[in-house]
Amino acid sequence: MTPHTLRVAIIGAGPAGIYAGNILGKAVRDAGGTIGIDLFDTLPAPYGLIRYGVAPDHPRIKGIVTSLHEMLDAGTIRFLGNVGYGTDLGLDDLRAHYHAVIFATGAIRDAKLPIPGTELPGCFGAADFVSWFDGHPDAPRDWPLDAHQVAVIGNGNVALDVARMLAKHADDLLPTDIPENVYSGLAASAVTDVHIFGRRGPAQVKFTPIELRELGAVPDVDVIVYEEDFPRDEASEQFLAASNNQVKVMSRTLNGWLTKEPSGASRRLHLHFLHSPLEVYGTESVEGMRFERTAPDPANPGGVTGIGEILDYPLQAVYRAVGYRGSPLAEVPFDETRGVIPNDGGRVLDPAARPIPGLYATGWIKRGPVGLIGHTKSDALETVTRLVEDLGNGLLPEPVEDDADAILAVLSARGIRFTEWDGWLVLDAHERALGAADGSAADRERVKVVPRDEQVNISRSVELVAS
Ligand SMILES: Cc1cc2nc3c(=O)[nH]c(=O)nc-3n(C[C@H](O)[C@H](O)[C@H](O)COP(=O)(O)OP(=O)(O)OC[C@H]3O[C@@H](n4cnc5c(N)ncnc54)[C@H](O)[C@@H]3O)c2cc1C
Repeated sequence: MTPHTLRVAIIGAGPAGIYAGNILGKAVRDAGGTIGIDLFDTLPAPYGLIRYGVAPDHPRIKGIVTSLHEMLDAGTIRFLGNVGYGTDLGLDDLRAHYHAVIFATGAIRDAKLPIPGTELPGCFGAADFVSWFDGHPDAPRDWPLDAHQVAVIGNGNVALDVARMLAKHADDLLPTDIPENVYSGLAASAVTDVHIFGRRGPAQVKFTPIELRELGAVPDVDVIVYEEDFPRDEASEQFLAASNNQVKVMSRTLNGWLTKEPSGASRRLHLHFLHSPLEVYGTESVEGMRFERTAPDPANPGGVTGIGEILDYPLQAVYRAVGYRGSPLAEVPFDETRGVIPNDGGRVLDPAARPIPGLYATGWIKRGPVGLIGHTKSDALETVTRLVEDLGNGLLPEPVEDDADAILAVLSARGIRFTEWDGWLVLDAHERALGAADGSAADRERVKVVPRDEQVNISRSVELVAS
């Protein structure tokens, strides 16, 4: 490696970080340059929310991993897992070893639902439940599933994922990659009714049509909707007529369920609209939830307003699925209001809104937790374009260290058991072998390994220590 090799660190091995590395590597090589990219993640395995967010019964989405795998396998990007920025490495370390740093740390916390009672036992954040069912190493291994009546608050796809995972019978999830503790937890669930609540009307949902339709195909689960939640006034009809195709398709799906007789399934998924959450109530734990009914607001097309009618639902558990939120990173500016790193097209901005040389952001930590995996690609292109412009204009600070392996020595000296790409290939093969060896009738593609130490040990091919 020559001293003129561009060296870039990317923090976060989710889709945003991987796309950024791939686009950047290609751009520099196409321009005749040489580049070394280190992709760090606090988790021992790559792929971010694709591994730890996307629902296990969505293998089609997880198929995106195939193309991300090829990008990481190509050799330009060096994966370094089990390394946390802000804990194992700081900004000074990165400044010393790299010309530029791209933060792609995503958003893993739940946004707050600002109503009383959300601190009661039995009220959960969707992100925590998602981490549990997707086998995140830092999530608890057990999840309380003793509630019969459960509410999921929110009208986006995460609410649908959470509700579907709660309502689905565990055996129907066996062909997926769910870990053993998740299978046994779900198999013991007492749930009979899952209620999804949205503040606005059926024409304002943030679902996508495929995910909504999927609810109607869950075995032994009836979908129930309520006529009083469907505004039929002229303004609402006009709003629907002026809406995009997706909304119209979903409206047809929802209206179809209005006339469908329940089959007598053992579990039910109820979709409630025009319910504005007021409070979660209970003394020791969740006993129910209070809502105010809303109606379309004539002064604000698509908006709703409370109409004073109070509705109580007895429940034993509530899941808040009202959005995700980014977390601040040490020594990096953070916009507390939006939960993102302040940036201009990906260039990180200081409090005076000036670009900080050599620092960039991409993905959900750049623009907030909205959008699908595909959006992180266009996002990465924008950020990389800025970085390449700055490189061309001589704006990237020179690191003191030009040996690519010097950072590995730093990690080792700190006792950090980092994982590498070859290690992921070993863990990947191990999980697939667990799937193949599974004795159940289901054709299991993989069974995820959950504990961090076990993942690290397998990746580093160290003798297994029982967790
Ligand atoms: C529940 C859920 C379901 C979803 N389902 C779908 C779906 O079906 N289809 C779809 O297209 N999109 C889906 N999405 C959206 C998709 O997951 C996101 O668009 C995408 O993952 C955002 O990519 P990202 O790389 O910005 O963040 P992430 O995927 O979150 O990746 C960020 C990475 O940064 C790492 N990191 C964080 N902090 C640090 C640190 N301090 N040091 C080192 N590493 C760090 C994290 O461990 C993580 O690996 C879903 C999202 C959620 C939450």
